[in-house]
Amino acid sequence: ANAPSPNFLRGIVEKDLAAGKHVREGLPPVITRFPPEPNGYLHIGHAKSICVNFGLARDYNGRCHLRFDDTNPAKEEQEYVDTIIDSVKWLGFDWEQQGENHLYYASDYFERLYAMAEYLITAGYAYVDSQSPDDIKNNRGNFGTPGTNSPFRDRTPEESLALFRDMKAGKYKDGEHILRVKMAADSMASPIMTNRDPAIYRIRHAHHHRTGDAWCIYPMYDFTHPISDALENITHSVCTLEFQDHRPFYDWLLATLAEGGFFKKPLPHQYEFARLNLTYVITSKRKLRELVEDGIVSGWDDPRMPTIVGLRRRGYTPESIQLFCERIGVSKADGWIDMSTLEGCLREDLDPKAPRATAVLRPLKLIIDNFPEGESVECTSPVHPHFPERGLRTFPITRELWIEQDDFMEVPPKGYFRYFPPIGDAPGSRVRLRHGYVTECTGFDKDADGNVTAVHVKYFEDSKSGTEGSNTYKVKGNIHWVSAGTALEAEVRLYDRLFTEPQPDAGGREWKPFLNPNALEVVTAYLEPGMSAAEPDQRFQFERHGYFVADRVDSTPGKPVFNRVTTLKDSFAK
Ligand code: ATP
Ligand code: MG
Ligand code: MG
Repeated sequence: ANAPSPNFLRGIVEKDLAAGKHVREGLPPVITRFPPEPNGYLHIGHAKSICVNFGLARDYNGRCHLRFDDTNPAKEEQEYVDTIIDSVKWLGFDWEQQGENHLYYASDYFERLYAMAEYLITAGYAYVDSQSPDDIKNNRGNFGTPGTNSPFRDRTPEESLALFRDMKAGKYKDGEHILRVKMAADSMASPIMTNRDPAIYRIRHAHHHRTGDAWCIYPMYDFTHPISDALENITHSVCTLEFQDHRPFYDWLLATLAEGGFFKKPLPHQYEFARLNLTYVITSKRKLRELVEDGIVSGWDDPRMPTIVGLRRRGYTPESIQLFCERIGVSKADGWIDMSTLEGCLREDLDPKAPRATAVLRPLKLIIDNFPEGESVECTSPVHPHFPERGLRTFPITRELWIEQDDFMEVPPKGYFRYFPPIGDAPGSRVRLRHGYVTECTGFDKDADGNVTAVHVKYFEDSKSGTEGSNTYKVKGNIHWVSAGTALEAEVRLYDRLFTEPQPDAGGREWKPFLNPNALEVVTAYLEPGMSAAEPDQRFQFERHGYFVADRVDSTPGKPVFNRVTTLKDSFAK
């Protein structure tokens, strides 16, 4: 592999390594983590975060933890834990190292988190606030307007501790009390809103997918996250820019708990990078859920979804997504990445890998009138034009074939080199049937409605591809085809972008009007006969069409269903 290209995060890590900042007995000097909340499916934005965090660990001989940030029992489920594990693995990353399994759950820290909360109360840093949720909200003030201290802010540690223990014991209803931190005397006037006495524990009488009914108070993200990082000896806690304002509390909390003897220095440090915004998709979990629940897509793994499971089913490779994340790099300023960048990485990855095959997506019958009925001649073509060592594929040419409807035109425009019939004294066009023979169009059939139902041609027996004679024919048209008698009939799903607008939910506007009504077209195609052996997840380049994958869900032995992964060229760019 190439040396990692520089970015500001790698710069920080390299500086810290050089300074020996995180040298600790028995621990690597770089430990990162990816901390998803198990409340939905991962999407391409998460893939960015996964590649950044696991990538830093890989590049600097460290390790990366997969940690479930499962502190909100209402929204979290085992189903999401399972799919997240699956998606991170599929992307090519691993949290097992030298026999150690670095998979963690914030819920495993509930006891320790609770003990630290009691410590903060005892030390005078936290108090139980008994204001109503509305009062708490109103008294926070706004950006530019200082908040108002809670009337409960000066409660004695003893009183707060007793209340907190009763909260834990289940004596109160949701929202009756909350535990807050006071970082400083004047915190409620801080210009940083998240410093205004952040809540660290709340009452939630809810069943947790791992701890069951053991707890009815749950720690908040801002409290759990820094502590989890410190407990796991994380060195570089990398997150997205929206957490920048949370950093002062992150640092304060860990420094305060270190003073209390809970942690040793050096403490983890948070670094922020710009989240990935990708055109033509949405990455809000809530909106993705809406697509699924409203039946706009077939599920979280619908090949049109920007979820990892959707991209996977669509035919994306882990390597193409890693390449994409590496290529776009990390930045400190928000911006948009064009979908064509992701598609370009996909083509780049698939081009050398994907075996070639022939598929006729919109079939039109072609009859070679001078080809003997019942006869069949074997044609061959390389599995991959750049890698002869991968061998040849074979398929028969016969009197009746399928070609694409748009490879014939009754009245050809200028510069059209595919089939058109004789016009006046001029003969019909000459076209090579790829890997087969040169043919000349002699006529066509139409039904009562005026639809073309068949194209008639004659072939030149001495023009077979790969033979001496083939060189004497100079033809501009060169089209693909399959033999009608042996073709495999298959369902092919032609996917396109899910939205017609690059930023469908820009500014929080209504995004559903921008759903692309043509994001899925299903056709019955004819494929070269060998394709019946295609395995689920196997990818091909269908010549002249693009990349396709045998659908991992709906394909059955001998009867693959194909998804178009992407076209050969960037059709949107034109
Ligand atoms: P929620 O709204 O439920 O919090 P989330 O998108 O923040 O959703 P998490 O499960 O909390 O999801 O995310 C895990 C990690 O992925 C976080 O560190 C988060 O910063 C990162 N992440 C989420 N979306 C993106 C994105 N678009 N680009 C880069 N990183 C992202
Ligand atoms: Mg989150
Ligand atoms: Mg979010």
